[in-house]
Amino acid sequence: MNTVTRPRILVVGAGFAGVECVRRLERKLSPDEADVTLVTPFAYQLYLPLLPQVASGVLTPQSIAVSLRRSKKYRTRIIPGGAIGVDLKSKVCVIRTITDEIVNEPYDYIVLAPGSITRTFDIPGLTDHAFGMKTLAEAAYIRDHVISQLDLADASQDPVERASRLQFVVVGGGYAGTETAACLQRLTHAAVKRYPRLDPGLIKWHLIDIAPKLMPELGDKLGSSAQEILRRRGIEISLGTSIAKAGPEEVTFTDGRAIPTRTLIWTAGVVASPLIATLGAETVKGRLAVAPEMNLPGDDGVFALGDSAAVPDLAKGEGAMCPPTAQHALRQGKHVADNVIASLRGQVMKPYVHKDLGLVVDLGGTDAVSKPLGIELRGLPAQAVARGYHWSALRTNVAKTRVMTNWLLNAVAGDDFVRTGFQARKAARLKDFEYTDAYLTPEQVRAQVEGAGRPE
Ligand SMILES: Cc1cc2nc3c(=O)[nH]c(=O)nc-3n(C[C@H](O)[C@H](O)[C@H](O)COP(=O)(O)OP(=O)(O)OC[C@H]3O[C@@H](n4cnc5c(N)ncnc54)[C@H](O)[C@@H]3O)c2cc1C
Repeated sequence: MNTVTRPRILVVGAGFAGVECVRRLERKLSPDEADVTLVTPFAYQLYLPLLPQVASGVLTPQSIAVSLRRSKKYRTRIIPGGAIGVDLKSKVCVIRTITDEIVNEPYDYIVLAPGSITRTFDIPGLTDHAFGMKTLAEAAYIRDHVISQLDLADASQDPVERASRLQFVVVGGGYAGTETAACLQRLTHAAVKRYPRLDPGLIKWHLIDIAPKLMPELGDKLGSSAQEILRRRGIEISLGTSIAKAGPEEVTFTDGRAIPTRTLIWTAGVVASPLIATLGAETVKGRLAVAPEMNLPGDDGVFALGDSAAVPDLAKGEGAMCPPTAQHALRQGKHVADNVIASLRGQVMKPYVHKDLGLVVDLGGTDAVSKPLGIELRGLPAQAVARGYHWSALRTNVAKTRVMTNWLLNAVAGDDFVRTGFQARKAARLKDFEYTDAYLTPEQVRAQVEGAGRPE
C-alpha cells in the first residue's frame, strides 16, 4: 500500500461495470480518502444493447454514447487509453494512451472491467471478412456498409453482382444476433422502396446458429414466437449450421450451401478482454476467476467484474457463473465499489447476489418478445417493456431525452438512409475495431514495468 499519499484506486474500462463503480466511489468516498482514476479509450459509456438500433438508423450513434463528463461532480481522473497489461506483483498497470504512448500506472486497488470482445473461431477468412457488433464504430460502419450495398446493387448492370450485394448473413442466434438481423432487415425492407430499379425479392437475410434453437434462454414458446416473427418477415433461419469459410464475395455454410454475399455479421458470442490473459492468473473460460466478493483470491486489492470476470452466480447455486449481461455488470459495478471501500476501511466485504430479472428482445417496430420476471410477453406489451427497460437504464437524463426523441422521430418520419462514407475505402476488420492485437504478453508486461524498454 502506498503510505505517502492517498490510496490509488484504478478502474479499467468505462462500460456498465466500470462507470457504475466509479460513480459510486465518487459518491461514497470523500476526496481525501482515495484518488480514483479511470482508464478508458473512449470518452463515453456505450449502451451496447441499443447498438442494433444504431446500425439500423433508429438511433443516432451519439444517443447511446453516454458522456463521462456530464457533471461537475465527476472528479475521477480519466486517462484516455487502454490498459494493455497488468503486473500484479508490482501493482502496476501498463497503459497505451490514445496517442500511442506507453505509460506505467501504479495502483493500490485495481478494478478490472474491460468487458469482452467478439469470440471468433479458426474459420478460414472469418476475421478478414466478418463484421462484429460490439462497438459504436462497428454499428455505424455496418449501417453505412448495408446502405452501400443497396446503392451499388442499384447502380450495377451485372445481375450476379446485384444478387450478391443484396444477400446478408448474420451468424449468432443469441439476442445480439437476432436483434441485429431483425433491425437490419427492417432497414433494407424500408430502404428498398426508395430504389425503384431494385427488385425487393432479391433482398435476403440469413440468420444462422450452430445451436438447435434461437435464444434458448427465452424458453420454447417465446423462442418459437421470435422465430415466427422473423420468418414472416422473410429472414431465413438455419439452425445447427455455422460458417465453413468466408470470402469477400461468398460465404460457405457448414451444410455446404455457398451464399453469394458481401455482408457477414458475426455475433457468435463473446470472450473476456485479452487484458485478462496478461495477468497470468487463473481463468474460467477466459474470464478471470474471482471470489463471490469479486476480489482475486490471494492478491490484495485486485477486483474484476462484468463480462471479463467469472463471478459466481450465488442466486443460481453451486458452480454457476453470472452470464455476461449488462444487467449483472451494472449491479456488480455498484457492489464492487462497496467492497473496495470496505477493503480500504478494513471492513468485511459482501458477496454479490442478484436474481436474473429476465430478458427483453427488440425486433424492431412493434415486434418484440420479452420475459420480465418470468412473464412471457409478445408484440406491443413486450416492446413497451423492452424500450422502457433500456430507457430507464440509460445513465443520464440527456441520454434518455436523445433516445426518446430519436424513437419518436423515427416512428413519425422514418429513416433517410443516408450513407455517410465513413471509412468507405478502408477494409474493415474485427481486430481493428476491437483492438484485439494491442495487448502485451505477461513477459512483456514485466519487461515494461522493470523499465526494460518499450514493447514492440
Ligand atoms: C448487441 C448487444 C446487445 C446486448 N443486449 C443486452 C441486453 O439486452 N441485456 C443485457 O443485460 N445485456 C445485453 N448485452 C450484453 C451487455 O452489453 C454486456 O454484458 C455488458 O456491456 C458488459 O458490461 P461490462 O462493463 O463488463 O463491459 P462493457 O460494457 O463492454 O464495457 C467495457 C469497457 O471497457 C473498455 N475497454 C475495453 N478494453 C479496455 C482496455 N484494455 N483498457 C481500458 N478500457 C477498455 C471498453 O471500451 C468499454 O468501454 C448486449 C450486448 C451486445 C453486444
